[in-house]
Amino acid sequence: MPFLKENGFTRRQCEICNRYYWSQDSDRKNCGDSPCQEYTFIDNPPTKRKYELSQMRNIFLKHFEKNDHTIIKPYPVIARWRDDVYLVGASIYNFQPYVTEGRIPPPANPLVISQPCLRFTDIDKVGQTFGRHMIIFEMGGAHAFNRPEKEIYWKEDTVRFHHELLTQELGIDSEEVSYKEDFWSGGGNAGPDLEACVSGLEISTLVFMMYRYVGDKLVEMPFRTVDTGYGMERWAWLSQGSATGFHATYGNLLENTIKLANIEINNETITSYARIALRSDTQALPIEKKQIAENLGLTIEEMEKTVKDFQRICTTLDHTKALCFILSEGIVPSNMQEGYLARLLIRRTYRMLKILGIEDRFFDIVDDQIAYWSRDFQNLKFMRDEIIEELDVEQEKYKKTLDKGADLVKRISRQIKTSGENEIPQTKLVELYDSHGLVPEMVQECAAKEKVTINIPEDFFEKVAKRHLDPEKTKEDVDVNIPKEKLEKYPETTKLYYQNPYLSEFKARVLDVIDEKYVILNQTAFYSEGGGQLSDTGNLLFDGKTTKVIDVQSVGNIIQHTIEGPAPLVDIEIQGKIDWERRISLMRHHTSTHILIGAAKRVLGEHAWQSGAAKDVQSSRLDISHYKHLTRDEINKIEQLTCETITNNIPVETFWLSRDEAEKKYGYRLYQGGAVPGTKIRIVKTGDWDVEACGGTHVRSTGEIGIIKILRVERIQDGVERIIFASGPQALKKIQERDQQFSDTAQILNTPIENVKHAALTITDELDSSNKKLRRILEEVAKIEAESLLKKANAIENTKLIVIEKEKWDEEEIVMLGSKISKDDPHSISIIILIGKTVRIFVFAGKNAIKSGAHAGKLAKELSAIVEGGGGGKDYFGQGGGEQKEKIQEMKQLAPTILKKQLIKK
Ligand SMILES: [Zn+2]
Ligand SMILES: [Zn+2]
Repeated sequence: MPFLKENGFTRRQCEICNRYYWSQDSDRKNCGDSPCQEYTFIDNPPTKRKYELSQMRNIFLKHFEKNDHTIIKPYPVIARWRDDVYLVGASIYNFQPYVTEGRIPPPANPLVISQPCLRFTDIDKVGQTFGRHMIIFEMGGAHAFNRPEKEIYWKEDTVRFHHELLTQELGIDSEEVSYKEDFWSGGGNAGPDLEACVSGLEISTLVFMMYRYVGDKLVEMPFRTVDTGYGMERWAWLSQGSATGFHATYGNLLENTIKLANIEINNETITSYARIALRSDTQALPIEKKQIAENLGLTIEEMEKTVKDFQRICTTLDHTKALCFILSEGIVPSNMQEGYLARLLIRRTYRMLKILGIEDRFFDIVDDQIAYWSRDFQNLKFMRDEIIEELDVEQEKYKKTLDKGADLVKRISRQIKTSGENEIPQTKLVELYDSHGLVPEMVQECAAKEKVTINIPEDFFEKVAKRHLDPEKTKEDVDVNIPKEKLEKYPETTKLYYQNPYLSEFKARVLDVIDEKYVILNQTAFYSEGGGQLSDTGNLLFDGKTTKVIDVQSVGNIIQHTIEGPAPLVDIEIQGKIDWERRISLMRHHTSTHILIGAAKRVLGEHAWQSGAAKDVQSSRLDISHYKHLTRDEINKIEQLTCETITNNIPVETFWLSRDEAEKKYGYRLYQGGAVPGTKIRIVKTGDWDVEACGGTHVRSTGEIGIIKILRVERIQDGVERIIFASGPQALKKIQERDQQFSDTAQILNTPIENVKHAALTITDELDSSNKKLRRILEEVAKIEAESLLKKANAIENTKLIVIEKEKWDEEEIVMLGSKISKDDPHSISIIILIGKTVRIFVFAGKNAIKSGAHAGKLAKELSAIVEGGGGGKDYFGQGGGEQKEKIQEMKQLAPTILKKQLIKK
């Protein structure tokens, strides 16, 4: 490190943590990072003036601009361009993997950016560490991408730029700065790094990414990346010397929220407490607490209340800011993926606000956040109404969950007590949150009423969030039947369907046939399954023979045709014919999904993203993210818009663009169908209506679709609505089918079509009152029959047995009669045998008969055995049956004896 050496830095070992560091200060004994060194900047900032976060961001960006870096606008916080992470956790995420692997050029080189980042791993520490941890923070990144043919800069300049910003721009004494040596790894890459510390605060990490992991071995990369992370909030904090990082980051938002909560927060208390607690991640020790409280003239309880309230307000600020950013980018709270993390933040915030007694001010705080941050991030202002609406819906859902949750916790607590325990286990806590959305503090409150305790793990939310942080890798379930060594041998299959999607017949040469079943051609017009579009089917014609193509799959660059029928010889020329009716229907449906997503966005808002799609021949489906059920009105509006798009006959263009160019031109909405691989992206552009990265086949212009009809809408999970629709002739067919049903119904009802609804309502009304009448009559009949049967009953011990046979009765009538008998005479036992195709047995026992030992269920079981069947039930009612009708007489004769046995046993 010549720069450090030339400037009088020497390499030493920390006396406390034993790590190596560089410093100019010969008296320094430690690495300069906490906990080895206390924070000395509080009330005593080392900079020549104070900077707000936005001012600090500016100084940082301008400093690097002066040093030939191009300033890049921040990327979204939702990493739509990647399928391995949901959220941007560092500025380098914007450039992984394509730029860092040297596959596409960076947007500028070198570049500088201040990137909002989200990290859920420290969620439980937010607030408690007074600003050292935040879920949402800005990472200042200065990046240089070194290529073998062009070196930009490496360690020397990286450290120099950093040091000059600190000393020349901010006026920090060089002796205050130390650089700690470390080794960084992440995202499959690694390299040495320096961690810069000033006055006990680690403010930046300077990483020299130069290795790649192959297995567990480090391999040097030809592409080396300078990956620096300047913690902007920490830099602002350092310059302000404020009691906590939240003071520096949130400025008057913090004061306003404290006022809103109408609570006394004594600044002196916070400052003294934070000073001690900030030495490490842990809370102040009991002995220290006592000391601080005494100095402040407070009791420990008074002091702790102030501190806790303050920490809750800080957490609220952090979470609501994170929410604004996530929701503004179209994430809908749900139980899945990024939506889950949004929900987690909402519920935690709601809980904190409730404790502070200001849960009704949730939206005011969010409004303040939007006003505050949209000075630098204008999209927030633009999305304000959608954010508030989503929060409103989500909060209502949560309130309902809480009501249900209280009962659930009560039940669980009682179960735990009956099993002799008095604590709800932690696994149950995680489940209660994950499946029922109950935060542990709420569980604790409800459980306490039942005198059951719980132990909340310190990293509870980190544990919960971790389960949802990494996308599950969707495994490509392609049936690969070609040996790998062969695959590498073939040239890439030419995709004729991209050159001309209307090509239905073509000639090609057979490159290989595997197992008489899988054909590889030099070129093909058969679309291989992908992007939710099914593969084509059709025929291969050769030597006067025809063989069916039943499936087509891509394996890397090779397309595999699965055939059914005779196999062609290798090297001959074949003719391919695709099933055109199927293909054109798939094309219409595919373009329709693009039109529909454009319409959904216009009707529902920017948060309506595609979350899945499947294009089929008869009908297709499109899943969209939305926080409520679609109303009839919204569905109609979406249909109307698709109709306009079709009648406007908009051309559908397809073309390839380099990834960076495509993102620059069309933004991240491109990735409707998820992240797509490759350095070049295929763009499907439907005029100004919709632009997507898509590999499917499409019609030339929207007019060819003819019509889109939404057949039905389903909610497949909380936060996702499924639209099932048909296009073109298939849509017409569905409309005709419905129309036919409608006119058939009108005919049945003997009424004109316009009157069907009215006629149906009249009929159901009439049916209702007829049913009521019928029931009254049946009750009357049952009453009369019960009376007459009881008169003829067979006295057994002190019970009365009735055995009768019925035909053509239904269950309701039998139950009505049997219950009536049991009620009229509590000593009665009635056995009703229903004879149809088989024998069914119903047994009813009155209260007193049960007291005497009769058991209807057991009787039913024994009687059923006689007709060679089974049965059972409760003491007052049992049922069963069997196949052997000829045994009915035998059963009837045995019934009194069986009953007698029950009675005697007692
Ligand atoms: Zn140390
Ligand atoms: Zn598509």
